[in-house]
Amino acid sequence: MTFETLGLHPSIIKALTDSGYTAPTPVQEQAIPAAIAGKDLLVSSQTGSGKTAAFMLPSLHKFASMPPAAAGAKTPNQEAQAAKARGDRPRFRPAQPKMLVLTPTRELALQVTTATDKYCAHMRRLKAVSILGGMPYPKQMQLLSRNPEILVATPGRLIDHMDSGKIDFSELEILVLDEADRMLDMGFIEDIEKIVAATPATRQTMLFSATLDGVVGNMAKRITNAPQIIQI
Ligand code: AMP
Repeated sequence: MTFETLGLHPSIIKALTDSGYTAPTPVQEQAIPAAIAGKDLLVSSQTGSGKTAAFMLPSLHKFASMPPAAAGAKTPNQEAQAAKARGDRPRFRPAQPKMLVLTPTRELALQVTTATDKYCAHMRRLKAVSILGGMPYPKQMQLLSRNPEILVATPGRLIDHMDSGKIDFSELEILVLDEADRMLDMGFIEDIEKIVAATPATRQTMLFSATLDGVVGNMAKRITNAPQIIQI
């Protein structure tokens, strides 16, 4: 099997070729077509299996395949400039991401963001940023003010920004829980429930975990809709 036969957008194929990827890994072979078809996924797979690309490539494909913004529609930056030209007082606008990836640790969040930058290198106007505990707030506010399409976050810090009105999830289309079992082991269950509750019920949800039993399985049932189960 090749990435072309999985039906990915040409700009993504180009980035994969640049990265030296020649063929999808087993988890990618199963997850990518199901995610492109819009299904929720519950995936049991280990670190090193290629799981980041398994959820990120179909998500980028979806964004790459969307029609360009309606003619005449302004980007948040253009709107801000127009408002400034009119002499309006600067108005704060919360970030409205289309995709959220929750990870248990800062290290994993940074890895996911770096991989995303690589995979979307040939896609225009797509930004991924990390929202992490330990990072200075002013820096994060600056990142959020650019209205990134993709947020990669650890749960605790994300809740802080939600509570202070910096993020609005009403436009969210894709939610990924990466290493969900580790997030639950670290005591993030309440934060995760609160974040999920703030997202639209129409979202696509993909959950990755070493195990899909017990507490993770119970949470997965609550937050996914007729998921495809993939065990590698
Ligand atoms: P992950 O399981 O997402 O942490 O990925 C593990 C490593 O495999 C990372 O260094 C990826 O860049 C690499 N990788 C992921 N998918 C592929 C692929 N299809 N071909 C070659 N390397 C890959």
